[in-house]
Amino acid sequence: MKLKELEKVDTGILGTLTELGHEQVVFCQDAATGLKAIIAIHNTTLGPALGGTRMWNYATEQDAITDVLRLSRGMTFKAAISGLNLGGGKAVIIGDANKLKTEAFMRRFGKFVQSLGGKYYTAEDVNMKTTDMEYIAMETKYVTGLPESMGGGGDPSPVTAYGVYLGMKAGAKRVFGSDSLSGKKVGVQGVGQVGAHLVELLAKENAVVSITDISQEKMKIVSIEHGARPVSQSEFYDLDLDIYAPCALGATLNDETIPRLKCALIAGAANNQLKEEVKHGYMLMDRSITYAPDFLINAGGLINVYSEFLGNYNRQRAYQQTEKIYDTCSSIFSMADEEKISSQEAAIKLSEKRIADMGKVRIPR
Ligand code: NAD
Repeated sequence: MKLKELEKVDTGILGTLTELGHEQVVFCQDAATGLKAIIAIHNTTLGPALGGTRMWNYATEQDAITDVLRLSRGMTFKAAISGLNLGGGKAVIIGDANKLKTEAFMRRFGKFVQSLGGKYYTAEDVNMKTTDMEYIAMETKYVTGLPESMGGGGDPSPVTAYGVYLGMKAGAKRVFGSDSLSGKKVGVQGVGQVGAHLVELLAKENAVVSITDISQEKMKIVSIEHGARPVSQSEFYDLDLDIYAPCALGATLNDETIPRLKCALIAGAANNQLKEEVKHGYMLMDRSITYAPDFLINAGGLINVYSEFLGNYNRQRAYQQTEKIYDTCSSIFSMADEEKISSQEAAIKLSEKRIADMGKVRIPR
């Protein structure tokens, strides 16, 4: 698995899979229900591939392929660096979630998941609702992240937010010499499930929090509840901050935004924050901005699901395991300094090392 920019890979689908190290990609279509889905299994050395199903009205099929390949690869690294015995996978369903989803549509998707015989476990992701997961679970046992009412672990976002908060503290220790966030100016972009919980943790520690969101309503609620200052999206990147926490969408660290940022640390929940992981990882380094790798610090949700996957869900244990993010993050910063590489590259190296080491052990599946 080479650290390579997906955008620059242009060798056909099998060439791309070889470059990125994917084991298997399954294209699913069902004319009767109108289902079109792609399931990507990146690496199963550590265990079955686990990752959520996302439904999105992709502009092109290539966009869907790019998304599922990037996301599944990220899941491999996330599980590996978190010490979980899971591989990386992801599924995307192509189309308008408001128009296409029916019981038959979701159950047909569940059948495709079941047909993989446990090599891939699915979970909830963007545009998947509890009822959709209920339908999927009628057709497959290979599903996790279920609501508490269905015997699952429930909403993972508080655990994710806790991990991001600890990753942010580890970053603060490196950058400011202390992991206290009291008085630190933190900008949280996106106050949805994770962002809102993160703001709560920051407010408890007396950080000075600014927030932005495309939803005025969410901004208003979080601002009132936690005393955070709402700012418009357009002014957000120019704020004078100590810490920027991307908690909305991916690719917000790019050619346009990085030169504008006035912060010393980036630590947030969004997946794939670096638009191009090599180029933008090093651009941040050049600007002396410390970056806490997203797949490391947002792993709390996966750790929560893992507890459910083991068959004995225990939220306290999930929180305890999430606490390791602080130390792992500190090690990554030291490794990046010693080897003069970006923190993203260091985190990927550490993940790949665990996969290679455990590959020798050959964990029975
Ligand atoms: P969410 O949908 O609840 O929240 C996202 C928020 O971002 C929404 O309030 C939305 O209005 C806002 N938003 C969208 N576009 C925006 C923009 N351009 N500018 C500002 N705000 C914008 O999602 P979430 O569950 O809170 O997850 C947030 C991010 O963290 C996502 O990227 C998700 O993939 C990632 N993540 C979430 C979890 C989890 O446990 N929920 C785990 C790992 C990673």
